[in-house]
Amino acid sequence: MTVQCCVCKKIKHEDSWTKAQLERPHEVSHTYCPVCLRASEAAMAVERLKANAAHPVIA
Ligand SMILES: [Zn+2]
Repeated sequence: MTVQCCVCKKIKHEDSWTKAQLERPHEVSHTYCPVCLRASEAAMAVERLKANAAHPVIA
């Protein structure tokens, strides 16, 4: 099973992520590469902060 990053479309080869052509596009499992995982976590944290600021919880 080929593993591809759903953000930057890099393909995982053992422990490295490279821009490569997919040989069998129907046998792809989508995930995040380490770089995009960190980026998406940071983006989600920012979105959470924005949501909290826009909709403060009324105690
Ligand atoms: Zn990526």
